[in-house]
Parts: sequence; structure tokens; C-alpha cells
Amino acid sequence: MTILTIQDTTLRDGEQTAGVAFTLEEKLAIARALVALGVPELEIGIPVMGSDEQEVIRALLALNLPARLVVWGRMRTEDITAARRCGAPCLHLSIPVSDLQIQRKLGRNREFVLAAIDQHVRQAIDLGFEVSVGAEDASRADPAFLLRVAERAQAAGARRLRYADTLGVLDPFTTREVIAQLRRAVDLELEMHAHNDLGMATANTLAAVLGGATHVNTTVNGLGERAGNAPMDEVVMALRHLGNRETGIDTRRLPELSLLVAAASGRPVAVNKSVVGEGVFTHESGIHVDGLLKYPLNYQGFDPAEVGREHRLVLGKHSGAHAVRAAYQSNLGIALSPEQAERILARIRRHALAEKRAPNGDELKRFHQEIVGWPVAC
Ligand code: MN
Repeated sequence: MTILTIQDTTLRDGEQTAGVAFTLEEKLAIARALVALGVPELEIGIPVMGSDEQEVIRALLALNLPARLVVWGRMRTEDITAARRCGAPCLHLSIPVSDLQIQRKLGRNREFVLAAIDQHVRQAIDLGFEVSVGAEDASRADPAFLLRVAERAQAAGARRLRYADTLGVLDPFTTREVIAQLRRAVDLELEMHAHNDLGMATANTLAAVLGGATHVNTTVNGLGERAGNAPMDEVVMALRHLGNRETGIDTRRLPELSLLVAAASGRPVAVNKSVVGEGVFTHESGIHVDGLLKYPLNYQGFDPAEVGREHRLVLGKHSGAHAVRAAYQSNLGIALSPEQAERILARIRRHALAEKRAPNGDELKRFHQEIVGWPVAC
């Protein structure tokens, strides 16, 4: 089984999230953390943004991380020149390929796009770059034209084509088909770049791999333009469990990476976010807790230990008396009779309604005192 290559773009598309800006120190810390988890490729910035961005890119390159670092640019000479100033070895050059963007954004035509690819890919290769071509808005492009773009990129010497679902409008079935079509047409590395506007980013990324993509773009916590990019944690776990593909990422450390990026971006992760959300291995309902206590696989799709976590049982409105007795015994060392557990459960339900959270250990002790009274000394 070949390893599927993750190219993380937290430091480029992730930072493009409206309102997000990383300091130099934050970028260095995120890059180190990504590579420490085993991410083999990072997209690290946009040189043409100016000298400050170039300085950060140079600092990232100076870390000499054991990973491929890629800078992003438009299919233009000034972007290539700016990239050269940073000393980056790998350059991604992006150009719109949908008629809509070719006409309404560039004010050009298809021939211009093909000629620009031909000219600038060769120019960048002559300057010593390894070049990847970005097909922006590929999902709204004429599929026949997209094939011509891919062929032209290959003929010019690019090593990779990025299929960008720039607006997140693809579904997984179409994704698999279009990537398979490209796969049959060219020998280039194929990279999927998905956005989550319709909640499909992870599914489309998985579908692209099934269609023959060799590389996938992700961001930590799904950071990125608008609804964001494909979240790395979801992609890595979905590839493992649904696609039978490994990525070489140390999944046990995904939560710490998530926390680091949440803090640096000022974008906290939703409690119920797949894989890394605070609450996704927390159980309260009587039926589920009872099932987990009997046999964990009753309510476990994958082992939380894979992502460095464990099941957490909490008491609340949906708890059963069984869970109350188990929690008092294991957390507080207090043995309850079934009748006491029922009375305490009623108290816990009142608490949950009033406070909208699970009771903590001190509160559980207090409920016990209120209802059962102090243990009688003998
Ligand atoms: Mn994007």
C-alpha cells in the first residue's frame, strides 16, 4: 500500500481565512508541529504579498525541516520573481480554468490560459523550481478544457496538477469521476484541493483519492477561505478507515496540533467537530453509557486511542441509574444502593436543566450529602 501524501496548507490557504493572521513565531511553531506529526509537504505562503511575507518564508525554509516546502503564486512573472527571492525550491502556480473566471476575473480567453501555462511553467523550471500547476475553479470548468490544461502543464514540464474545487461545489461522485478522467489522461501527480462550502470537503478528498489522486491538500481544523478546506484530522482518519490508505501521520498527536492552531488562529474548534472536538468521545445517555460499559465496541466506530483520546462518561439529563452508580463508585469511591442512585439521578437532572453542563465531582458529593446524608460513623 503506497502512502498517500498530505500537503498541508494551513500556513497558506488556512491563513487566508478572513480575520486570521499568524505571527512569525506562530508560523514556525505550526510548521514544526506539522512536520513532527509526519506531514511531508507544507504550503507555506505567498511571496508576491511582499517583503514581510518573504521574510517569514525564508525563516520557515531556514528551519531545514524534513519536509517539502512549497510557495504559492499566480501564473505570472512577478509571482515567480518574488518566489525566487525567497529561495523556495518548490513553486505552485495557479490560474483560473473555468470560463467564468477566465472571462470575468482575468478578462482573457482559454488560449491565453494555455499559453500562460506553457510560458510560466517553463520559465519557473528554467529558474530551478519544481513546479505544480493549480487549476483554479476546476470544478466549474469545461472538463474537456481541463484535460487540455493538464496536458499542457505536463508538456511544459510541471510535475503536478492541483484540482481546486475553489468554491466547494463538487459532490463526491463527480469528484471521483473527474479525477479518474484526469488520471487516465496524464502522468502528472494529481492533487485534490477541496473546500467545505457544502460540507463535502472531506468526502470529496476521499473520493479524489479513490479516483486516483496522489496528493491531497488539508488544513488543521479545516481552516481556510469561507467554510474552510478539508480538515487534516478527518481526511487522515477517513482515508485510514474508509479508504484503506495510510498517510504516515501520527494520529495520536492530532489533538495537540488542533489546539495549537486553534489558539494561533483565534478560531476555537466546535465541541462536536469530528475527531478533535472536545465532546466527540463524551457519553451521557443511559443507553449508550450502559452499552459502552458492557462492551466498548457497542458504541465505538474507531478507538479514540488512535487519536490519543479516551471515552469520557458524564452524568446529565440522559443518564441512567446504572451510570450514576458506576460514576460514584469509580470517581468518588462511594457505593450507592439502586434506590439512592435513582434519587441522586433526579437531582442530577435538575442540575443539568439549570446549569446546562455535567456536574463536577464536588457537586456530586454535595448531591450525595443532600440526599443520603453524612455516612454514619460507627
Ligand atoms: Mn483554496
